[in-house]
Amino acid sequence: DAARSAYVARNPGSAAALERARRVMPGGNTRTSLWSDPFPLSVASGQGCHIRDVDGHDYVDFLGEFTAGIFGHTAPALAEAMARVHAEGINLSSHTPYEAALAERLVARFPSMELLRFANSGTEANLMALTTARLVTGRPRVVVFQGGYHGGVLTFGHGNAPVNVPFDFAVLPYNDAGAARAEFAAHGPEIAAVLIEPMQGAGGCRAADPQVLQLLRDLCTETGALLIFDEVQTARMSEGGAQARLGITPDMTTIGKFFGGGLAFGAFGGRADIMNHFDPTRPDAIGHAGTFNNNRLTMAAGLAALDHYLTPKALDALFARGEAFRAALNARFDAAGGLFHVTGMGSIMNIHGTGPEAAKRLRLLHFRMQAEGYYFAARGLIALSLPIGAAETDGFLDAIERVLAA
Ligand code: PLP
Repeated sequence: DAARSAYVARNPGSAAALERARRVMPGGNTRTSLWSDPFPLSVASGQGCHIRDVDGHDYVDFLGEFTAGIFGHTAPALAEAMARVHAEGINLSSHTPYEAALAERLVARFPSMELLRFANSGTEANLMALTTARLVTGRPRVVVFQGGYHGGVLTFGHGNAPVNVPFDFAVLPYNDAGAARAEFAAHGPEIAAVLIEPMQGAGGCRAADPQVLQLLRDLCTETGALLIFDEVQTARMSEGGAQARLGITPDMTTIGKFFGGGLAFGAFGGRADIMNHFDPTRPDAIGHAGTFNNNRLTMAAGLAALDHYLTPKALDALFARGEAFRAALNARFDAAGGLFHVTGMGSIMNIHGTGPEAAKRLRLLHFRMQAEGYYFAARGLIALSLPIGAAETDGFLDAIERVLAA
């Protein structure tokens, strides 16, 4: 309660911003994941890996826009690309060279993507991938996992009531080989797709057991179901995403977040024989339109992002930095009696409280770390961005030590 009161006293501008928003949006909110009690911060600007809220407090940004903000806030090559496209003209009602160039680079990176199509969000990419799998296989059933998050309309086992689109879902426990075998034994011929995150992001940064992923790969191959990896978050784990790191190639992959260079983005792709169903010259072609699928700002920003920032070397370094940071955090937590622990993969991780007071404990840590000048999600999510260096991670670890001591 003391930490909560201190937060309220410290952030009058954010409180006022929420009050204003409440008049025109339910609870002042248009993005459920940003909500935290008593009210979330309202942020006015960002520079590199720093943000400043409307009350003038500076924070080191360890949330990185829930992984989409991998570039930090003022990446010059992205600003240059967006300014150039704006000068050339946007909304030209046509194909442009940017989209093929971006597709070429993505197809070259992801082992599973021979062909791809663009969409406007990770949610849309997943909806399209599932629809594709059902049309191509002619089967109704979709296997997903408890704790899975594939977008606001594809959410399984989180706190809020879901508004899921009506696919014929089978929701299995995550990382459970027995449940997967049983599902395929009972329903194999009906299964169109298995949709899985190689690490559940919103589900608490739980990495998939590689043996279970391999089992799902084998079961899909045996039965003709399509294995779809949702790499909307995990694509940053290497040049070719988590699939390249794990050495497991799905039939289809969905991506989103950072490949639009900080703008709204989604894409779904896979084997050529699957994706070719969208070829409009086919008499039985599947249609997939979307005004902004290939919008020039996103395509050009994505291209600049891949060429300037998301290089294989930079992604490998970010992965290593994340692994080291998570280990250092866990060492601090263990030394303080295991009040918290951190799960994750590479640069994406989640702090969890432990024990019967886990949720309260995490909330208190979050309040105290914010007062120390470090910003991450109230639910414990941290996503390192490229501009975060040793000064920022060391500073975070020092602040954690102070908070734990207090
Ligand atoms: N899939 C995963 C694994 C995600 O983490 C998210 C977003 O957090 C999505 C899909 C949905 O992407 P978007 O928010 O762009 O619709």
